Amino acid sequence: MTTTLTRLRMATQKSGRLAEASERLLKDAGIKIRSSKGQLTARATNFPLDLMLVRDDDIPTLVGDGVCDLGIVGQNVLEEYRLDPANEDVDVLCRLGFGGCSLRFAAPADEAFELANLEGTRIATSYPLLTRKFLEDNGIQAEVVTMHGAVELAPRLGIADYVCDLVSTGQTLEANGLKPVHTILESESVLIRTRADIGSEKSDRADALTTRIDGVIATAESKYIVLNAPETALEEITRILPGAEAPTVMPLLGREGHVAVQAVCQESVFWETLEALKRAGATDILVMPIEKMML
Ligand code: AMP
Repeated sequence: MTTTLTRLRMATQKSGRLAEASERLLKDAGIKIRSSKGQLTARATNFPLDLMLVRDDDIPTLVGDGVCDLGIVGQNVLEEYRLDPANEDVDVLCRLGFGGCSLRFAAPADEAFELANLEGTRIATSYPLLTRKFLEDNGIQAEVVTMHGAVELAPRLGIADYVCDLVSTGQTLEANGLKPVHTILESESVLIRTRADIGSEKSDRADALTTRIDGVIATAESKYIVLNAPETALEEITRILPGAEAPTVMPLLGREGHVAVQAVCQESVFWETLEALKRAGATDILVMPIEKMML
């Protein structure tokens, strides 16, 4: 039994785009969460971890102030938080590969846009610090209007000339007669950790959980490849295998000059890769998913 003091606290989004993927990530890391609908906390039953289920823009503050030890949050929210000098910074432990989106300026769909068009205009955004920083860095004078939702409506309502908003597919912008014109931040979810002193016991647990999460991310992107090849083609085949260091090479019984190659590829393996391997002389190519991995 662990005491409340030594249980880790992780802040995750209560509901919304990141909530489900955050929960799945912890599940894939072997963490069983006992939650009940409407609760603000959830308890892991097989790891000393409690989840604080909160709004995503509260997550950096909770972790920065040391109320929570770890958090899962979009880089968009984190970078906006970091631009306020009053906020305590946090450490980013790893990218999580979900919640991908970009913060972009959007202009009326029929406008021949260039950045200079922003000069002297009004720009609506939920990310005033990131937007102002971009404008300052590019020597553009413009008024930033902060909105907390429905930013893409601002031009239609006459509140602003342009918007700077999160985009993933661009459909919302399109539906409002806008088009994305300039990206100021590419974002995905990240795992963050407090810089506050959490003591050695909690720190060891945070390291253990991070190692598991690293393993889940690496596994999602990795494949195990097995193939046969003539020895003479080994150099070329090793070059083609994506993200594979030092493959295992074994002799094939009864096939002089041929070897079996096994490798973990830490990048996506596309059909084009298999075609290139075949052209280089590989045969009997198998690509298999990896269930668990600890690096
Ligand atoms: P939600 O509260 O459900 O809107 O989730 C917001 C978080 O999801 C943002 O802070 C982003 O990190 C991420 N996200 C991914 N795609 C989008 C998108 N198209 N619009 C808004 N947020 C997005």
